[in-house]
Amino acid sequence: AFFFATCLMSDNVKVIVRCRPLNSKEKSGGYKEAVQCDEVNGRVLIERPNDPPKSFTFDHVFGKDSRQVDVYNLTSRPIVDFVCEGYNGTIFAYGQTGTGKTFTMEGVRSNPELKGIIPNSFAHIFSHISKIGDSDHTFLIRVSYLEIYNEEIRDLLGKDQKKRLEIKERPDVGIYVKDKKEFAVNSAEHMEKIMSQGNQNRSVGATLMNADSSRSHAIFTITIESMDKGPDGQQRVRKGQLHMVDLAGSERQAKTGATGDRLKEATKINLSLSTLGNVISALVDGKSSFIPYRNSKLTRLLQDSLGGNSKTLMIATFGPANYNFEETISTLRYANRAK
Ligand code: ADP
Ligand code: MG
Repeated sequence: AFFFATCLMSDNVKVIVRCRPLNSKEKSGGYKEAVQCDEVNGRVLIERPNDPPKSFTFDHVFGKDSRQVDVYNLTSRPIVDFVCEGYNGTIFAYGQTGTGKTFTMEGVRSNPELKGIIPNSFAHIFSHISKIGDSDHTFLIRVSYLEIYNEEIRDLLGKDQKKRLEIKERPDVGIYVKDKKEFAVNSAEHMEKIMSQGNQNRSVGATLMNADSSRSHAIFTITIESMDKGPDGQQRVRKGQLHMVDLAGSERQAKTGATGDRLKEATKINLSLSTLGNVISALVDGKSSFIPYRNSKLTRLLQDSLGGNSKTLMIATFGPANYNFEETISTLRYANRAK
C-alpha cells in the first residue's frame, strides 16, 4: 500500500521545462546557445567551455520551436479535464525574468496561435461544458485573481488595491482567503476580460509599491462546480479548483547588491520559491510526514491543491544563451529537485 501511494503521488506531480529561442538582442550581441533540448528523451544538456556537459531529465522537454498548443495539450489539458471532474490542480511557471513564464501562461493576446495555457484552459472548459452540460448537468464557473508580493496578498479583482487579504481556515471549507472577490463567468471571452482587468491592477499595484510585477506571484484560480446525477442515481455536487501561477522571477535577487527594503523583499521571494521547491519535493518523495506548507503564503494558500489527490505541474522556463549559464543551471537544478 505504501509503494502504491508513493507511485500515485509522483504521478500527480509533473515537472517539465521549456527553452525560449535566442531573442534579437542576444543574436545581434553574438551570444551563443549553451543549451540543447532533447525532446524525445526529455533531456536537457547544458555546456560551458572547458566543463563536461551537464544533463538533466524531466517528464517533458520543450525546445525553442515548441508551439503553445502542444505545450497545452501535452501538459495542461489532462489537468483541466481532471479539474472538470471535481479535483484540484495547480500549474506553476518558474524561471528567471525574461525566460517565458508569462509567454507560457498567458501568451500573446493578439495572436490566437500564441495563446498561452490560461486562455487555452478557458476555451477548453467552456467547450467541455457545451458538450456535456444540459438541464440535468449544470455548471457554475467562478474566477479569482490574487497577487502575493512581499508575503502580502492583494486581490487583483478587488476595488481597493491597497487592501491586504488574510488566509483563513475552516473545517467545512478548508483554506480560503477572506474577502477575496470571485466572479461567476459564462464564456471564455468573459474570463479573458476579467483576467485583463486583473493584469491592469498588477501594474497599478507595482507602481503603488515601487516594484515591478516580476517580483510578485500572480495566482489565477478557476473554480468549477457541477451538479448532476451520480452512478447511483443520486444528485451530486462536485467542485474542482485550478490554480495557474506565474511565479516571481527566480533570479538570485540578493546578488544584485540590494539593501534595506529591497533586500528584505529579495529574501522573501527566495524564501517562498524555496519553500515551494521543498513542498513539492516532499510530496514527490512521499516519505516525509511533514510538508512545510506554512513556511510561505503561497504554499499555505495552495495547500488544499498541492498533494493528496491533486495534480501539480511545474513548468520551468529558461533561455538558451551562454551568458545565462548560472541562472539556467540553477533553474534546471530547482526543477530537477522538484521531481
Ligand atoms: P517572463 O514572464 O519569464 O519574465 P516573458 O514571458 O515576458 O518572460 O518573455 C520574455 C520575452 O520573450 C517576451 O517578449 C516573450 O514574447 C518572448 N518569449 C518567451 N518565451 C518564448 C517562446 N517560447 N517563443 C517565443 N518567444 C518567447
Ligand atoms: Mg512575466
